[in-house]
Amino acid sequence: MAAILLDGRPIAAAIREDVKVRAAALRSRGVTPTCAIVLLENDEPGRLYANQIAKASSGIGITVEIRELPAQATTDQVLAAVGAVVDDSYVHAMMVQRPLPAHLDAARISEEIDPRKDVDGAHPYNQGLLMAGEHFFVPATAAAVMELLQQPQLSSLDGARAVVLGRSAVVGRPVALLLIAANATVTICHSHTKDLARVSREADIVVAAVGHPRFVTAEMVRPGATVIDVGTNWVDGHFVGDVDAQSVAPVAGALSPVPGGVGPVTTAVLLRSIVEATERSART
Ligand code: NAP
Repeated sequence: MAAILLDGRPIAAAIREDVKVRAAALRSRGVTPTCAIVLLENDEPGRLYANQIAKASSGIGITVEIRELPAQATTDQVLAAVGAVVDDSYVHAMMVQRPLPAHLDAARISEEIDPRKDVDGAHPYNQGLLMAGEHFFVPATAAAVMELLQQPQLSSLDGARAVVLGRSAVVGRPVALLLIAANATVTICHSHTKDLARVSREADIVVAAVGHPRFVTAEMVRPGATVIDVGTNWVDGHFVGDVDAQSVAPVAGALSPVPGGVGPVTTAVLLRSIVEATERSART
């Protein structure tokens, strides 16, 4: 039996509808939700993502400003750009496009973000809250994975066995923490994990975020398991996921496609966080 296709597009559309209503309410009070994205000039995937956010925001009453810096910008120059966004009272939300190149001090730059504007959950304060089991802002991709996993046609996360493949601060770790908060029993795998296929095969839920095209194959999936594919690998002019969909779809109970799964939901979740940041700042 083929897996249920976890299409992210209708989920994203429903989130955008809610965001539109909330943005309209803010605008009627004279407040336009505004997000600044700091980006390095040569970051092509980052630019693509920022443009997607700008495009998705345009019809729903949110303003997105992309602030590009030269590819060779120093840590001090990036800190100055981030500081300017922090001080700009017309900007309610901000993000610095990650990953940053190795010549920059990414930790110092994350610390410079205002935690109240930190819609991609990069500041250590927001990372700490997530660690403590509370949420303020979490990385949008991790939140998108949870949106997909909480669809009504899927089994409850409560008590489910979940395996997260990947432990990055942007995807793997926050997904694992959000799954723990949802009462799943979680194992995180990474490049040093022994017999990863066996570990993965025990899971009711597999979240693949390793950055290797078609890494997860049918042998790594228990029949009926839900598989979320976070991967976005550019191969021969196409986006390819971290899951070998052709072999996994006949085995899995549900599978998110690439493209059209986690990606569109991530953009919608980020728009929702921009509106939330604006609502909070309008209340203070
Ligand atoms: P990353 O920072 O490169 O982290 C990859 C993780 O996978 C690391 O923890 C690494 O382990 C682990 N890994 C690598 N090779 C492995 C192997 N052979 N076996 C087991 N684990 C392995 O990547 P990321 O930023 O988390 O992104 C992961 C994927 O998600 C990428 O395809 C990326 O393009 C995609 N992504 C999608 C979105 C979206 O919105 N759809 C957003 C962000 C990222 P170690 O820690 O041991 O090195």
